[in-house]
Amino acid sequence: MAQLLLKGHPIGNFNGVLFDKDGTLSHSEPHLLELAECRMTTALDLWIATGRSPHPELRTLLSRAFGLEKNALDPGGTLAVAARQDNLISTATVFCLLGCSWPEALNLAEACFERVDQAAKASNRSSSSPLLSHARGTLQHLKGAGMQLAVISNDTRSGIESFLEDHGLSALFSSCWSADDQPRKPNPDAVHELCRSLNIPPKHCVLLGDAETDLSMARAAGVGIVIGYTGGWARQPELPSADHLLADWKDLGIAATP
Ligand SMILES: [Mg+2]
Repeated sequence: MAQLLLKGHPIGNFNGVLFDKDGTLSHSEPHLLELAECRMTTALDLWIATGRSPHPELRTLLSRAFGLEKNALDPGGTLAVAARQDNLISTATVFCLLGCSWPEALNLAEACFERVDQAAKASNRSSSSPLLSHARGTLQHLKGAGMQLAVISNDTRSGIESFLEDHGLSALFSSCWSADDQPRKPNPDAVHELCRSLNIPPKHCVLLGDAETDLSMARAAGVGIVIGYTGGWARQPELPSADHLLADWKDLGIAATP
C-alpha cells in the first residue's frame, strides 16, 4: 500500500486508483463543444432534408439537451457525462418533442451522429483530447509507488485505448471499464467488476472523477476515498459526494517510504 497525499496531507493508504477519463484526465471541453456544434448543425440539416421548414426551437432544445450554456458545457450535463448512446436518445427525444414519431426521431438521431462521426474520421482529426495539466507526472508518480491504475469511463473501449496510446500512457494502466462493458457506470457494479479485475477490494481503492454520478457510484460501491476533480471545466462542477476536491493534479502525491 502507498500513502496518498493531498497538498502534502495524508488521506489514506491505497493499492489502486480508478480514474474517470473525460474532464478528469483529458481536457475534453473544447472537443465536446465542437462536437455539440457539429451535431446541432447536422440535426438542422437533416430536419430540413425531411421537407419540413426550419424549426426555431430545434437548436435551443438540442443545446439544452446537451447541457450547453453560453459557450460552456454543464460538467454534469448529458454531453459531459453520458455515453454516446444516451446522447443519441436525448437527440431523438428532441425530434419527438417537435412532432416526429419515435421511429423517425431515432432514425434522424442515428443519421446525425453517424454523419458527424464519419466527418470527423474523414478529416483525420485525432480523437484524443489533450491531457490535463500535470496529470502525466502524477500518473507516473502513482505508478512508480506501486499503485495499480485503471480507467472507468463511458467512452468506448477503443476510445479509452486510443487515448492512453496517443498520450503514451498505456503501460501505466492495468485495466479499464468502458461503455462496451456491462454494467456501465454509474452502476456501482461497474466499480466492483473493475476492482475484481485489479484483484483489489474497493475499500483499498481511490476513485477520481469530475461528475457527481461518478462519485456517488464510488461511494455506493464502497471505494475507500472519493476525490472530485474540478480543474477540467470552465464552469466548476458541483460534487457534494466528494471526500476531497482536487483542482490541480500536482496537488496529489505519495508519501516517501521510510
Ligand atoms: Mg468525466
